[in-house]
Parts: sequence; structure tokens; C-alpha cells
Amino acid sequence: MNQHVKTLSLPAKPRDFGFFVDGKSVAADGREVFERASPGHGVPVSRVPKCTPQDLDDAVAAARRAFDDRRWSGLNGADRAAVLLKAAELIRERQDEIAYWETLENGKPISQARAEVGGCIGMFEYASGLARSLHGDSFNNLGDGMFGIVTREPVGVVGIITPWNFPFLILCERVPYVLASGCTIVAKPSEVTSATTIMLAEILSEAGLPDGVMNVVTGSGSSIGQALIDHMDVDMLSFTGSTAVGRHCVKAAAGNFKKLGLELGGKNPQIVFADADLEDAADGVAFGIAFNTGQCCVSGSRLIVERSVAQDFEKMVAAKLEKAIVGDPLDEATQIGAITTDAQNATIMSYIDKGREEGARLISGGTAVDVGGGQYIAPTLFGDVTRDMAIARDEIFGPVLAVMPFDSVEEAIEMANDTVYGLAASVWTKNIDKALMVTRRVQAGRFWVNTTLSGGPELPLGGFKQSGWGREAGKYGVEEYTQLKSVHIEIGKRAHWVE
Ligand code: NAP
Ligand code: MG
Repeated sequence: MNQHVKTLSLPAKPRDFGFFVDGKSVAADGREVFERASPGHGVPVSRVPKCTPQDLDDAVAAARRAFDDRRWSGLNGADRAAVLLKAAELIRERQDEIAYWETLENGKPISQARAEVGGCIGMFEYASGLARSLHGDSFNNLGDGMFGIVTREPVGVVGIITPWNFPFLILCERVPYVLASGCTIVAKPSEVTSATTIMLAEILSEAGLPDGVMNVVTGSGSSIGQALIDHMDVDMLSFTGSTAVGRHCVKAAAGNFKKLGLELGGKNPQIVFADADLEDAADGVAFGIAFNTGQCCVSGSRLIVERSVAQDFEKMVAAKLEKAIVGDPLDEATQIGAITTDAQNATIMSYIDKGREEGARLISGGTAVDVGGGQYIAPTLFGDVTRDMAIARDEIFGPVLAVMPFDSVEEAIEMANDTVYGLAASVWTKNIDKALMVTRRVQAGRFWVNTTLSGGPELPLGGFKQSGWGREAGKYGVEEYTQLKSVHIEIGKRAHWVE
């Protein structure tokens, strides 16, 4: 494929993708097919089968067999690491192709998609080390008659459900860690962004992953997704998406008490003090809300700013947002791409209307942008936002930032915590006391000081409060997919109970 040219072109006709079970790609055949149009262009680009309940049962059965016969978990860590490293190499080779399909189905800028795929390579490389270093514990302090060992064992068959905002990145924040632990997988991507998940299954197979260890089913969340979370032969579920569907997962877990990892929504504060480097902060705050069109669980959607600088600072942020380039996602220069789904586009526009109706002051944006096809929204800044307004409370999942001034450190912390969510937060200040105090007291699973949205394979991801359960990535991510076994070993002659 001809990549790195100025503007890539759309595929001549939609590409057909099969789903993936037991090491084989399965074509749609007589099944219904879902056709996806590129949100950046409004042109059909891909087709995926709608899996049947039987397809799901087959996928779970394949994952079960592959787990139970130990074809993967029984390998030594070095052999598992070799497969993960080979996969990293193959992702690198196909980086441009994966980024292209990510951009076509999601609408994100191609340069960003390419960088995300680069990050995914790092996830596989890092997890390969964890496949080798994962270990338990021993207790040599139980007296001369007893030795204790704690082993870590893979949980079993893991269902992975991912959303459409970072189809490949979110997948790769989970899959290599799940594989490092020795578990097997049935993944269900969002129906609108399935292509790159299917590509990953092919890549893993080519990298030498045994058949049945990675399976992908395609179809809608309400049908095949719900069936996957309800499935009695799935041992653990890693769900990333809305808080509403997260609740479905909790209910479904009552069936077989499957273990859950949940990464849900956020209404994340960006706290800016007057003593921050305001130019850096303005750039970071603009990036934090406009990156991926604000369709990130960790988007910084509440700007909590010290009142003495609030007026100047909102102007600085508005200038940045107005200058950022909204455009065709296939154009290398584009910084802000399309809104991924029609439904999300309507939701964002309705929140912009609500902001106006509730009396917030529109500072910039607030309108659709015409790029000649597809759906785009100008990054939007609202001032005079009060805590009771919908735009201050609800996760919009779009490029809409609410400015809320504060007068003291205590008030800033209290405002930041005034949400049911606890996913992420940022603080901008050059005063170390304030930075540390805020970092300690704001409830969030991820925290940024004088930066935002940075990350990598080393540090775990996950939320406090209603933002979820458990952690992904890092050594913590691998450990999530294990269960502990305590082994007591008697040394020498037993002291008899019955003489
Ligand atoms: P969503 O409806 O929860 O969808 C997420 C995934 O769940 C998709 O694969 C979806 O499939 C599937 N799904 C939908 N209904 C289901 C059901 N009843 N049973 C099982 N699976 C089901 O989320 P969305 O509205 O599309 O995406 C935006 C939301 O996701 C936002 O609220 C955002 O906070 C959250 N999110 C969180 C994170 C995070 O890391 N914390 C990351 C991204 C997004 P289909 O799309 O095929 O229907
Ligand atoms: Mg949904």
C-alpha cells in the first residue's frame, strides 16, 4: 500500500473481513453482514459478518479447548514471549495498513492512528518481558515443618469487549497482557470498528500463537456482545465502554461469577493554578479535550481554573482550539478528525444545545464543520459553567470543554471530586506542594502533573468510583488475569491428629 503520501485515498470498494475462530478466518457465507461507512467521508469502506449464537459458542469452545489442554499456558514464559515479540514485529511491518483501516472506520487523523499503532508495538514488547517475569511468592517463615508457596495461574477464557474510540490501542492494552498470563481470548470489537481487531488475530496466528488462543467474534453489542458477557463458559470479562453496559456486565457476572475488569466513563478535571506555565497549560488543556475529538474516556472535559487567571486563560485555550486543524482524517496535516458515529455526533450536538439553554457562555466552536463529507464538530469551549449544568456533570464524549473557576486549593479539590467518576485528572502548577496535595486528594486512577493524556505500557490504567474495576497494562495488567493459589507443604513427619 502506498503510504506516507500527502493524502491517502479511499478503498475502491468496501473490503470484506471474516471473523476468526480456532486459527481460521471465517467468511460471512449466508450470515447477515454489517457495512461500515467511513465517518470522515460517508463512503462504505468495510463489511463484517454478524456472528450467530452458534458462532459465539464455537469461539468460546475453541478458547476453552485451547486453555484446558494447556497448549498455551503450558508453554514456558520464554516461548510465550517469543510469540509476543514476533507479533510486535509483524505489527510494525503492517503499521501503515493497520493505521489506514483504523482511520477509515474510526475517523481519527492518520498521523495519530499511526502513532497509536506504534504504541501498541510497545505494549507487545513490554508484555513479552512480563510473560517471563510473572511469578508468585514463597513463605520460608512458617517454621521448620512448613513451607508455603503462592503461585499465579491464568484465570482461563477471557472475553474482551472493546469500544470504537481506540479500537486497536484499547485492544492492545489488554491482549498481550492476557496472553502473557497464559489465558485464552474471545474478543468482540465494536461493530463499527472491527477491522483492526480481526487483523490482530491474523497477526498473532502468523506469529505462532496456537489455534484457539485468540478468537474474534463480530456483530452488535446488544446481540453477540450481550451473549458473550452472559456466557457461562467465559471465566473473566474485560469490558471497556459505557457505564450503562458496564452494569450489564455486573449483572451477567451473577450467572457464573465470572471475574470482571471494567473500564468505564469519566468526567475528568484539568486543574490549572495561576502559578502554572500558562502557555504549556493552555496547550495541554486544548489537547486534552480535542485529541480524538474528545472521544476518550480520559478526555479532560472540565477545566477547573484559578479565578485570578480564568479570563485570560480561557482566551488562550480558545486560541489554541481555533487554530487546531479540523479536516479529512486521511490528510497528514489533520489534527482533529471526524466524530465516529452518527449517534455520538447527535449526542455531542445535543449537549452543545443544552449548554446554551442552561445559560453557559459559548466562547468558541459550538458548530458542525463542513469538510465536504462525513461529520465534524468544531472544538467547543463554554464559560460560566456551574456545577449543576449537564455539560459539567455528564460524560459528553466529544470536544466540549466546560470552564469552572475556583478560589482556593481546597475548592479546586472539592470541585474535581464532585463527580460519580474517577478515571483521570491533570494538575498544572509549578508549586510542588500544590501539585502533590492535589495529586493525593483527587480521586482518579490516572493522574498527570503538568501534562495530560500521556502513557505507555509500564503504568496501569483504570478508574476509581464509577469509572470501573481493576487495572490494565503494566505488571498489574498481567496480574489481573491470574488467580492466586496458596500451597502449603509439610516438611518431615506429620504430627498425628489420631495417635
Ligand atoms: P458502549 O455502548 O458501552 O459500547 C462498548 C462496547 O460494548 C462495544 O463493543 C459495544 O458493541 C459493546 N456493547 C454494547 N452493548 C452491549 C451489551 N448489551 N452487552 C455487551 N456488549 C455491549 O459504549 P459506546 O457508547 O459505544 O462508547 C462510548 C462510551 O464508552 C463512553 O461512555 C466512554 O466513557 C466509554 N469508554 C470508556 C473507555 C475506558 O477506557 N474507560 C474507553 C472507551 C470508551 P457495539 O458497538 O457493536 O454495539
Ligand atoms: Mg452503545
